[in-house]
Amino acid sequence: MGALSAEEFSRYSRQLLLPGFGVHAQTALKDARVLIVGAGGLGCPAAQYLAAGGVGHLTIVDADVVETSNLSRQILHTDERVGMNKAQSIVAAIRILNPHVHAEAYPSFLNTENARDLTASHDLVLDCTDNVMTRYLISDAAVLADRQVVSGAAQGYEGQLIVLHKNLGDIRGPCYRCLFPEAPKPQHTQSCDDGGILGSVTGLIGTMQAIEAIKLLTGVGEVTQPTILFATPFGTQPFRSVRVRPIQTKRCRLCGDPSIVDKISDLTKEDYRLFCNLTAPSSFAVRSEDVSILDSRRLPEGEALVVDVRPPHEYAITALSGSQNLSIDQVRANAANAIATLPEKQPVLVVCRSGNDSREAVHLLQSADPSRTFANVTGGLRGYASYNPSFKMY
Ligand SMILES: [Zn+2]
Repeated sequence: MGALSAEEFSRYSRQLLLPGFGVHAQTALKDARVLIVGAGGLGCPAAQYLAAGGVGHLTIVDADVVETSNLSRQILHTDERVGMNKAQSIVAAIRILNPHVHAEAYPSFLNTENARDLTASHDLVLDCTDNVMTRYLISDAAVLADRQVVSGAAQGYEGQLIVLHKNLGDIRGPCYRCLFPEAPKPQHTQSCDDGGILGSVTGLIGTMQAIEAIKLLTGVGEVTQPTILFATPFGTQPFRSVRVRPIQTKRCRLCGDPSIVDKISDLTKEDYRLFCNLTAPSSFAVRSEDVSILDSRRLPEGEALVVDVRPPHEYAITALSGSQNLSIDQVRANAANAIATLPEKQPVLVVCRSGNDSREAVHLLQSADPSRTFANVTGGLRGYASYNPSFKMY
């Protein structure tokens, strides 16, 4: 246990004076390591109160950079730090706020490779993200590492708060998958980038995440059953608490009984984009921003078939969802026959590991059928993986 210095006694005196808080709770905060995923509208107020209140170690995870449009709600960032990584910007703010706190920036996104270790090396996780895919990943990693998650969400004029995998003594509360076994359709979810958001609403939810974190870390306050708190400060009833269903041992892929459920034990084997319906099932949606990964041939906006010309054993290791395997040997043997195995008419994106075999395949296929569009994915899957970090590459 880290003893409090004279300066810390003075700094935290109003907390130390609280009945039931005292040196014990303050020391528990000093000894705690908290992981904050997302350095935006929720992460800023949460980090601010946890740092000011004396949480000893904070790690902030975010790969985004500060933009001017963030400043109305992401209150630890400043005009001077526009362009700086958001995690590093929060660390800079915390250094000024409370020099007793050790704040560490992790300037990349949480992904299937780093989630479990980052979670296991902290006592508590704050989910301050704005997308469903990362929410599942945070929750999954927390169950595997046996950590609790204080999960916040805010959109428009409203917000929500819940503690996932809550420690209730001899049993745990539900995880995100227990509550939502199916991911919502992408068209039913919006991030703050495309919907509006009021800064004081994210401030409210982020501050409540900090309060909940302090409760969990110190044991101060009453233990409550898992509930979702709905905050609708612009409605007639500003706060509403709803009990949630318990842990789903017969269905949840994290919390379930392994004799019944296909358990997740290795996050890197899970395709979160596919689970969250973010990849088209039978074809690859070509968007204008994807064109930069293509060769000189520009495809029209719309759907294209992805043909992967790697050998079958490599294709079995990892592949783009919805892609079709047609090895370069098959194309070399007889390109016309190879084309006959493909669905008709769609434009075809040809991909391989690094972009060389696919370039040859495009040439052979295009010669065999000049009427159809074949395009090479420049840089191959390795290039695609750097453009899309959630895609796992060997
Ligand atoms: Zn679960």
